[in-house]
Amino acid sequence: MKCANCGNEDPRMLFEEDNGEIIYCSKCCHRTRTSDGQDDLVECPYCHRLRDRKALYCMWCNCAWESTPKPSPKFSRELNESLRDFDETLTPANIRYWKVRPKK
Ligand SMILES: [Zn+2]
Ligand SMILES: [Zn+2]
Repeated sequence: MKCANCGNEDPRMLFEEDNGEIIYCSKCCHRTRTSDGQDDLVECPYCHRLRDRKALYCMWCNCAWESTPKPSPKFSRELNESLRDFDETLTPANIRYWKVRPKK
């Protein structure tokens, strides 16, 4: 096991992930694929710079990764319906809650 980024071979600082398919180097926070010893990096679909495949967010543009689950259409519909109900219950007493809602 060896880190492709910094050459670290210390087993105490290298950790296997994904059943040994990837090793994580705690020295430089870099991941290396064990299959071919190459960097475990992918191109960001938004800014096209190389980023850690396992990272949730791109360190360059902080964009949400495409594998991040999006709310289902059903969830969105239910949310919209609950917001509509909320609109109908508006009174001067709860107007301050209305004010903190995002603009449409
Ligand atoms: Zn390293
Ligand atoms: Zn990016």
